[in-house]
Amino acid sequence: MSVEPSMTVSAAGTEVPPLRGSRCPDCGNVAFPVATGCQRCGCADVVPVDLARRGTVWAHTVQRFAPKSPPYVPPAEGFQPFAVGYVELPDGVRVEALLDGHYDQLAGAEVTLVATTPVPRFATDDWFRAHDSLEVSR
Ligand SMILES: [Zn+2]
Repeated sequence: MSVEPSMTVSAAGTEVPPLRGSRCPDCGNVAFPVATGCQRCGCADVVPVDLARRGTVWAHTVQRFAPKSPPYVPPAEGFQPFAVGYVELPDGVRVEALLDGHYDQLAGAEVTLVATTPVPRFATDDWFRAHDSLEVSR
């Protein structure tokens, strides 16, 4: 069952703003992040849009060793493996993001936006249930 959250709440309990993208008024192409012009038809008058908070994991992998630093900044407690991939949004765009969820359940999973900075981050419904201190309004 798919339920559209009315609001997305971060682990800190603050509302997560939507990701901002842009849409071409001529051909409808959606881009993330906001583009200065349409990548499909060249139109220069793209308009900013709020992107959907729910999407589907299109492809992912697990980063099992620390990336080159800089630019990667390892957390104070040391590197831990993490999942990263592309989330396909109903707006018609794929967003590269960190993914919270069981690694073997990420393929094709429905995910919800949980953070926009420093990079987009999405989580599976199971991840929400496993972190019941997280108050998600649905
Ligand atoms: Zn266009």
